[in-house]
Amino acid sequence: MTDNSSFSGRTALITGAASGIGAATAEWLAQRDIGHLILVDRDEAKLQALELPCETTLHLGDVGETDFWSGLEEQAPKIDLALINAGIASGAPIAEQPFAEWRRLMGVNLDGSFLTLAAVLRNMLKHDGGSIVLTSSVTGIKAFPGSGAYAVSKAAIAHLSKIAAAENAAHGIRVNAVAPGGVDTPIYETDPNFMQLVEDQGREAAFAQAASTTPLKRFAEAEEIAGLIGYLLSEEARNITGAVFSSDGGLSL
Ligand code: NAD
Repeated sequence: MTDNSSFSGRTALITGAASGIGAATAEWLAQRDIGHLILVDRDEAKLQALELPCETTLHLGDVGETDFWSGLEEQAPKIDLALINAGIASGAPIAEQPFAEWRRLMGVNLDGSFLTLAAVLRNMLKHDGGSIVLTSSVTGIKAFPGSGAYAVSKAAIAHLSKIAAAENAAHGIRVNAVAPGGVDTPIYETDPNFMQLVEDQGREAAFAQAASTTPLKRFAEAEEIAGLIGYLLSEEARNITGAVFSSDGGLSL
């Protein structure tokens, strides 16, 4: 009988691999016999610090840069699986959103996802077959005030994944997105309001307060999202493409 949950002999590319959801997915795949991980991030110290029990190739760079992708594409081996996940967050009401900040968010989250997806698809089309997951967000589904550029980039990523799924199904390439709600990762350390809450109340209380508007009253651990991503990447999910899977404690309800 075929083991549809095995990743033995496969190569997976992960962006935003040095931290949070990306690092948890790298660990999840490494624990399931993945053959080779191609890990992309711009945080050199965190990328170098990863200790994974499989072959790894590290690529330090900015996913929003075209030169980075043309360099990586030239040397990349056959890619079977990809998690397109690198992202940054910030928020402001639309009327107060500086255009430069809008562009910074789009440059990483949307341009970066597009460049990664196009490069991965070109690689997979050479050998017909593969599975790709993009990291969207609950903010791309439900309209939260103040989530502007971030949320719009995440809604666009979900739609980008559906178009890619429709374009590439005939080539045996599946493309899905995950839409997490709150996940306890270092991304919150870039939010000055959240860090003020941490300073005032401590980390645990700050996350509990942030989770209080979620029906299940909890944030996810990065490993929970990694498990969902791993399932979608695996052959267990061979009938699933063009889907956006929420894992948000009911926040999108
Ligand atoms: P994180 O900050 O722990 O990890 C993000 C990683 O992306 C970091 O290692 C960072 O260095 C890298 N990165 C950022 N910009 C980059 C760039 N231009 N080039 C290369 N690498 C870059 O955060 P996380 O929570 O694990 O976020 C992963 C993804 O999940 C993001 O796309 C984020 O928007 C999404 N997400 C997170 C949450 C949450 O609550 N944490 C919820 C929904 C969606």
